[in-house]
Amino acid sequence: MKLKGKRALITGGNSGIGLATAQLFIQEGAHVAITGRDQATLEEAESKLGARARAYRTDVSDSTARKEFFVQLQKDFGHLDIVFANAGIGGATLVGSSDEALFESVLRTNVTGAYFTVESAVPLLRDGASIIFNGSIAGSLGRPGYAAYAASKAGVRAMARCLAAELSSRNIRVNVVSPGVITTPIWDRSFTPEQIIQIEKRARELSPLGRVGHVDEVAKAVLFLASEDSSYVQAIEMFVDGGIMGTP
Ligand code: NDP
Repeated sequence: MKLKGKRALITGGNSGIGLATAQLFIQEGAHVAITGRDQATLEEAESKLGARARAYRTDVSDSTARKEFFVQLQKDFGHLDIVFANAGIGGATLVGSSDEALFESVLRTNVTGAYFTVESAVPLLRDGASIIFNGSIAGSLGRPGYAAYAASKAGVRAMARCLAAELSSRNIRVNVVSPGVITTPIWDRSFTPEQIIQIEKRARELSPLGRVGHVDEVAKAVLFLASEDSSYVQAIEMFVDGGIMGTP
């Protein structure tokens, strides 16, 4: 067991990549706190994950909620060994018809929310802890109609490098996992079913592996970055994208 006795926080742990990672962490012996905004899926995830999981309803983009959550988390968990800042949203921002409020909410959730989650967690972190941000290939490749999202994920990568430099003195490692096209509910929230079929088709064409990815494949990369197996890995961006050669 790679995470026996470790305590982990996974934001957005009630769905998609976050939920798959929570499952894997628990299999590997960790206690896991998951967060999200949707009470029903949080309860469902908590019962699926079993006794070593605890679900908390909180919004990473709401500073008051975040502060209250960390007070509760400290009471329940005491300390943390791993933070997976995974919660994120998409949102189209086409030139000529961009919605400024949507643009700002993407940055607020994906950048500000992720940053302050990690900052709030630092006092709870034991020396030698591991922080993993969820980035995206969009942060490097861009994507038409996705300026806010791409900017947010490039921001995540930049933040990770800053935090790695700040926290290395405590042997805290900060890395980024950057998935390619992974089938999760985020696509349903952002695109029509026809658009999703097109994106997945393009992703298969652009990927040397000829397929889209699965949440478990991202979770395994997060486990590597969270565990001692990556003890000398600092400030990297690990792509889990099947070697994709462009933007789908
Ligand atoms: P999901 O939509 O399944 O998961 C997103 C998670 O984030 C949900 O658990 C959601 O919970 C949570 N979340 C969103 N906004 C907030 C918020 N304000 N406060 C707290 N929780 C929030 O999609 P994925 O699993 O695909 O996404 C996870 C991460 O992976 C994201 O950061 C995404 O950008 C990244 N990613 C995904 C890719 C893919 O192809 N799927 C590719 C590249 C990166 P709730 O709705 O209950 O709040």
